[in-house]
Amino acid sequence: MQFQPTLAFAQQLDEQDPLKAFRQQFIIPSANEVEKVYFLGNSLGLQPKRTKDKLQTILDDWGKLGVESFFHAEQPWMDYHDRLVGPLSKIVGCLPHEVTVMNNLSVNLHLMLVSFYRPQGKRTKILCEAKAFPSDQYMMETHVRHHGFDPADAIIEVKPREGEHTIRNEDLLQIIVQHREELALVLFGGINYYSGQVFDMQTITQLAKQAGAKVGFDLAHAAGNIELNLHDWNVDFACWCNYKYLNSGPGAVAAAYVHERYHTDPSMQRFAGWWGYEKNTRFQMEKGFKPVQSAEGWQLGTPALLLYASQLAALEVVEEAGWENINRKRKLLTEYLWYILDEVNTSQKQPIIEFITPRKETEHGCQVSMNMLQRGKEIYNALMEQDFFVDWREPSVIRLAPVPLYNTFEEVWKFGEAMKKILAS
Ligand SMILES: *Cc1c(COP(=O)(O)O)cnc(C)c1O
Repeated sequence: MQFQPTLAFAQQLDEQDPLKAFRQQFIIPSANEVEKVYFLGNSLGLQPKRTKDKLQTILDDWGKLGVESFFHAEQPWMDYHDRLVGPLSKIVGCLPHEVTVMNNLSVNLHLMLVSFYRPQGKRTKILCEAKAFPSDQYMMETHVRHHGFDPADAIIEVKPREGEHTIRNEDLLQIIVQHREELALVLFGGINYYSGQVFDMQTITQLAKQAGAKVGFDLAHAAGNIELNLHDWNVDFACWCNYKYLNSGPGAVAAAYVHERYHTDPSMQRFAGWWGYEKNTRFQMEKGFKPVQSAEGWQLGTPALLLYASQLAALEVVEEAGWENINRKRKLLTEYLWYILDEVNTSQKQPIIEFITPRKETEHGCQVSMNMLQRGKEIYNALMEQDFFVDWREPSVIRLAPVPLYNTFEEVWKFGEAMKKILAS
């Protein structure tokens, strides 16, 4: 599409947007009746208006029926989980019984490593991205130590080349091949939280499997952001949180995907709890763990029903909007964002923004990470003062992520204007 740098054009894109009505389904942060521009859906997605009612229903059930709500509430708590996995499985591209909603992301990563990091003989190493999210780094470090290895030796990090910000696909793939005999596990982000780079999950999976390693992804920044096909790609496991692009609220329950081939495999090791026990006989409370033969077999304890409710509210909005429509708008909205940011750069004597996020459509989602070549912190502060929610990462990076469900083309246009004004002052 041929974009134009005018307000009228941005408004026209909004007018033609099939998802334009969905913004009204969210509470947009505002002051004195003026809506702020929220570009931090990659950090904490906004609150759907219906969340409150869904939470209230759980509170009402609890009040009216007490523990009987598990079986006799209008939406029985016992199968509340099943209402979540359908929509989530569409979003990450797998079968509904390959998803389970439990714990938080950091906990689920640990649980998955118990099952999928099984060092043996020479095969002891984990391959991951350099500068993975801190929780992921600490998780790998402590698992490696738990098995008696030295993290400096057992964790192989793939880095960008000198002077570059993102990892080259060819380097990543070559390192998998190079270490093929010592890899126990390949664990990558789907999208790096800092650079916004999308990794080629399909090819990574293929090569990791050929090497004889297990392969998993942390999809914190990918789930609800880009199209995924975990099952068809043959990924072993994945974990993600639901409070970023999936709007399920602060501390929302996280999710895990486990390929169905492992559900009935008696050699699978895991740390178990009663909520992962076979459903028909769970309440006989017998000795000897028998897992549910689905991803739910990794569940531990009684789920947080209030948080399940906030997640159901958010997933209903995704279902109503249609995951494909969301993706279509995401592509157009980010393309427009790049265009506007280019306008900002060309309005200056010298470029002020260096883009860290790869430009290629298949290599980024909503997020753009801008390395500010001058006055970074000052620009960030001025943006925040003018009610643009973006975030700051030392030493000089501003991240922003307009999301398709509630952000508009006009907001992106406004952002470009604000940048130009700040730079002129
Ligand atoms: C946001 C994020 C986390 C956060 O984990 P929590 O357990 O939800 O606090 C972990 N890993 C990555 C890659 C993230 O982006």
